[in-house]
Parts: sequence; structure tokens; C-alpha cells
Amino acid sequence: MLTGTVVNYYTHCQRQCWLFYHNLNLEDNSEDVRIGKVLHELKKQGKEEIALDGIKLDKLTAEYVTEIKKSDADLAAAKAQLEFYLVVLHDKGIIRKGRLECLEKNKQSKSVHTLMLTEGEIEERKVQYRQIEEFLNRELPPPPIRKPICKKCAYYEYCFI
Ligand code: SF4
Repeated sequence: MLTGTVVNYYTHCQRQCWLFYHNLNLEDNSEDVRIGKVLHELKKQGKEEIALDGIKLDKLTAEYVTEIKKSDADLAAAKAQLEFYLVVLHDKGIIRKGRLECLEKNKQSKSVHTLMLTEGEIEERKVQYRQIEEFLNRELPPPPIRKPICKKCAYYEYCFI
């Protein structure tokens, strides 16, 4: 089943997406993952996370669905994840705008991005989600392509060593 995280990874790196989806979870102690885990714990303690039919929302108000990220390092992937939530909610008759809050590393500030989807864009995303599902059904992942983000990736050794 498609999730917001899978859509995020697909945008970030298709190979990572395939490996994650097929449960090739590698233990990762990188700083990025550690910060992510801490943020997840904080969210849990704040009891703001809302689980709804397979999607987990950081915050849901009358106007916005809010997704909180530890940085804006991959804004496109974070936005793709948030759009997925908007589409799922839309199909339940819950129409919202998206709000992405990125906490800046070593700073007190955060950047905030808002987005909304038209009906046409929602249909386009659904076509894309079906393509992602087909991609995930492939027997093998795509080959690794070295890029700057690889250095911080949990699959680095699996891909390149
Ligand atoms: S190491 Fe690079 S190619 Fe391999 S899964 Fe991670 S981001 Fe993708």
C-alpha cells in the first residue's frame, strides 16, 4: 500500500523507495536518522500525530494538514508527501490546504511552506501514484546512481560498497 513516506522516498531516490518498500531496512546511525527519530518521539509525546486509514498526520486543523520536517533539505520530497495526504483526505471529503514546517538545524527559526491542489492536479497525482505502485511491483530495484544525497543515506554501503 502506498504511504506518504513511500511517495517521499520515490521523489528523493527511486532506488531507496523500492528498497524501503520491500523491507530492506538497514540499521542506520547517521546523524540525520537520529534527529529524525528524536523528532518522531517529540511528536509522539506532543500527541499531535493523527492516524487515519494508513496515513499519519502531524497536525490537522480546519484549514490545514501540517507536516513537520527536521530540515528543508529535500523540499520536493516533503511536498510530494504532503500532497499525498491532501489527495487521500480529498477522497474522504476532507478538503484542506497543506502546510509544511521545516525546522532549521542549529537554529530557532523554521521555514513554512503552504500548498494546495486543484481538482486537475489531484487527478494528475493519482495517475502518478498508480505509476509508483507499478514501479514498486518490479522484481528488482533500479541501479544505484551516485549523487550528493547518497552520503547520508542508510543504503549507501548496500549501494556502493
Ligand atoms: S545510496 Fe544513493 S542510490 Fe543508494 S538508495 Fe541511497 S540515495 Fe539512492
